[in-house]
Amino acid sequence: MRWHLRCSECGAEYPLEPGRYLCDACSAQQEPERPLRGVLECAWDGVFRGIPNDIPLPVKAEHFPAVPVGWTPFWAPPRLRESTGFPRLWLKDDTCQPSGSFKDRASLLVAAFARMHGITEIALASTGNAASSMSCIGAAAGLKVTVFLPRKAPAAKRVQVLQYGAELREVDGTYDQAFEESLAYSRETGVLSRNTAYNPLTIEGKKTVSFEIVRDLAKAIPDNMMNFVMPDHVFVPVGDGVILAGVYKGFEDLVRLGRCQRMPVIWACQAEGSSAIARALETGGFGDPVPSDTVADSVSVDVPRNGLHALGKLKRHGGKAVVATDAEILAAQRELSSQAGLFAEPSSALAWAGFRKAAPAIAKDQIVVVLVTGNGLKDITGAMKALEL
Ligand SMILES: *Cc1c(COP(=O)(O)O)cnc(C)c1O
Repeated sequence: MRWHLRCSECGAEYPLEPGRYLCDACSAQQEPERPLRGVLECAWDGVFRGIPNDIPLPVKAEHFPAVPVGWTPFWAPPRLRESTGFPRLWLKDDTCQPSGSFKDRASLLVAAFARMHGITEIALASTGNAASSMSCIGAAAGLKVTVFLPRKAPAAKRVQVLQYGAELREVDGTYDQAFEESLAYSRETGVLSRNTAYNPLTIEGKKTVSFEIVRDLAKAIPDNMMNFVMPDHVFVPVGDGVILAGVYKGFEDLVRLGRCQRMPVIWACQAEGSSAIARALETGGFGDPVPSDTVADSVSVDVPRNGLHALGKLKRHGGKAVVATDAEILAAQRELSSQAGLFAEPSSALAWAGFRKAAPAIAKDQIVVVLVTGNGLKDITGAMKALEL
């Protein structure tokens, strides 16, 4: 198979090579304080053959650093199945990734791509998890990592960055400012950027979860004879919208490969205080940014960088949005911890809160998968608030 990049807006094609981030024509239309224009998707031609566990990716396995990313636990929480009345409910548990979050899926592919091209340094901006993730994977791969992190990022995530030996540049300001500073750094130095959505491999790396889910389900359903089973509903926590787009990309690939026949319904779960994509799905587009304010720090963005791309996929595939308040997120966090034994950070308890709110509209026999994206120990301030500590 042959890989290239394709613009998610105009369809223009570009070679997949270092230094290519956005579509020239569409990114020239970029307006300030709006989602990125001209986000590129990895695309492939030709035939993909492989055993059922194989995932088509644009970098060969030999370049992947030796760190155990992916094939995370997929499990059935019996008490939650009972209390919700959904006997075919599963959790996809990315709290067990090496750095404790889903972001490792993207960092792994970016690190592999860097190694394939002999690149030795990667820079990025982050609300916290992308930074700790790239630092972790970069350490395993022997890459220098420079992170731009808002000073108010949770302490545990900062400590992870330093512990993994990355260079930390603290930014006095929001994630949105850190994003701009890190891009300026990459432009000046030529260092490979892992900024989410901006680097197309971040989206591609995140699709792996969809390939895992259809295999996980095939194994988890008794007497099932299929190699791949598509879920009916998938709940995804959404900030910049890269996980959402990656999850869609994975299911699109699976349909294209003939492994599955139809797409699931994907629910974009957003925090009330950071809900630009949910608003855009309702109104049709993105307006002026609203300063974000939510306990779920990993999804707290004023301008969702991958907003246009994610919105396009939601519209194309009949996706839905559901919004949860901070109180609902913290209650969901307690419920996941105390009823399933899974302590998730607020940003991923958000997906559980989203399922709880959407559940009345879903038939009880449906296959539901909730993506649990980050470990609760990464950010205990919200959890402490909920416990009144
Ligand atoms: C980054 C992150 C998200 C949101 O992903 P986006 O691609 O920004 O939408 C959700 N949960 C956790 C734990 C994260 O780190």
